Amino acid sequence: MRMVLTPQEQSLLGEARKWAMEHWNPHSDAWETARQFPREAYAQAAADGYLGLASSKQYGGRDLDALSCALVYEGLAYGDPSLTTYLHIFNSLVAQLEKWYHPVPEVLALIPDFVAGRKFMAFALSELDAGSDPAAGKAWCTEDGDDYVVTGDKAWVSNSHHDDYFMLIVHGPGDGMTMMLADRSTPGLTVDQDPERIAGCAISCGQLHLRGCRIPKRNTLCENGLSAALRAIDTARLNASVTAVGLAQRAVDLSAAYLAGRETFGKPVLSNQAIRFRLAEMQTEIEAARWLAYHTASQMDAEGKGGELAAMCKLKATSTAADILRDCIRFFGAAGLDTHSEISRLMRFSHVLEITDGTNEIQKLIIGKGIARRCR
Ligand SMILES: Cc1cc2nc3c(=O)[nH]c(=O)nc-3n(C[C@H](O)[C@H](O)[C@H](O)COP(=O)(O)OP(=O)(O)OC[C@H]3O[C@@H](n4cnc5c(N)ncnc54)[C@H](O)[C@@H]3O)c2cc1C
Repeated sequence: MRMVLTPQEQSLLGEARKWAMEHWNPHSDAWETARQFPREAYAQAAADGYLGLASSKQYGGRDLDALSCALVYEGLAYGDPSLTTYLHIFNSLVAQLEKWYHPVPEVLALIPDFVAGRKFMAFALSELDAGSDPAAGKAWCTEDGDDYVVTGDKAWVSNSHHDDYFMLIVHGPGDGMTMMLADRSTPGLTVDQDPERIAGCAISCGQLHLRGCRIPKRNTLCENGLSAALRAIDTARLNASVTAVGLAQRAVDLSAAYLAGRETFGKPVLSNQAIRFRLAEMQTEIEAARWLAYHTASQMDAEGKGGELAAMCKLKATSTAADILRDCIRFFGAAGLDTHSEISRLMRFSHVLEITDGTNEIQKLIIGKGIARRCR
């Protein structure tokens, strides 16, 4: 068992962190405040090789394994965890198109445009009444000749205002669910404004309305759509975990630097043992979450799935990040409460990570189910 990163792996992490601090971090607050998708930021990411990380080289990708991708996402998240979240979801979906579903040539032909950041795609599974329990969704399809006819509504679709395609999972045409690729220009498909959220505002997250949309059957990605969707979420859990690790590391580094320069009672706040002890606990928790995520990535590379381990690392990393941010924001005193401070943006986004890709209660359900199964 290998318990250290190779020099190449360390440089993937270091270079991504440096890149995101230079290209994203100085603008993150402006993008967040404007609530506008920073297309130019993703164009730059594409130009510098951060789109298509897991896609094959024949489509312009880098064909990186799960651990290498995770290291890049941890580095990017240090600069901007919100932009990293959409980027890792998008990258994974694009790679899955070719590697898991083997679609028709017209669909494969879209991949170079995705990898180059000319077109975007998102995952449309959740519904307003079916987030944690996606099988309870109501959107459905019937068959009519060479088409599916889809009706229903999908909610919280990441980057909904700018996606060109949606990986859509709906009930039907039989008992199960079908995963298909829907073109944004499909007649009957509309996207709603999303409500104002507290975090991750540069990436829209609206509702998709489908009214008798005819989607060609040749756009089918998987006839067992629910299990394909759950497999995609398994990958997203690992990448959400390293995003949380990158976010938490940035918060601790920002806090330590602030406390070293802030004086009370004639000395730097950082010189107090109580403060150092809390920072030490935080760093230790981050390191534990980081290596659980790396271990999960290695298992994914070896076995193709994360399963309970992916649930554990999502639970550990995102709850660690949220706990750490609760204290980090206090370290900044009143300055931390400024809406535009980086620490408050990180604190707000830490809560998003506890909800997306299955809430932390859902991760506990998965882990608990495994424990109960092994008791039988
Ligand atoms: C910023 C953002 C981006 C998103 N992007 C996407 C996307 O691109 N595509 C997509 O399909 N979805 C997306 N989602 C949706 C996300 O996956 C869901 O919000 C999430 O799964 C939780 O569902 P819910 O909000 O309906 O909460 P609910 O399912 O209503 O849960 C409410 C609360 O009850 C708890 N709970 C539920 N069931 C149980 C149980 N059995 N035992 C104990 N506690 C339970 C939950 O943990 C939670 O605390 C996104 C959400 C957000 C916030």
